[in-house]
Amino acid sequence: MVRCFPAIPPRAEFACILELEVSVMAYKINPDVCVSCGVCKENCPVECIKETDGKMVINPDECVDCGTCAANCPVNAIDPA
Ligand code: SF4
Ligand code: SF4
Repeated sequence: MVRCFPAIPPRAEFACILELEVSVMAYKINPDVCVSCGVCKENCPVECIKETDGKMVINPDECVDCGTCAANCPVNAIDPA
């Protein structure tokens, strides 16, 4: 079990654990920078990047935070959310 602070009561500790879990988020594409080249979509190992209205969007529920898309984006449009 992940413990945020050993001296806090169990209920507060549980709340802290929940906060840690929701703070882990997927990578995100900046639509103002993306030029829709498709490189990220082609290289995502779990195929969680879809094209919507001409822009690429990462499904945060499927992204495994590998960073491949960000490393290969030619215009640096992808960052950890
Ligand atoms: S690689 Fe970058 S520029 Fe190309 S579609 Fe993905 S986010 Fe957009
Ligand atoms: S970080 Fe990895 S899993 Fe998430 S969208 Fe980018 S390539 Fe796909």
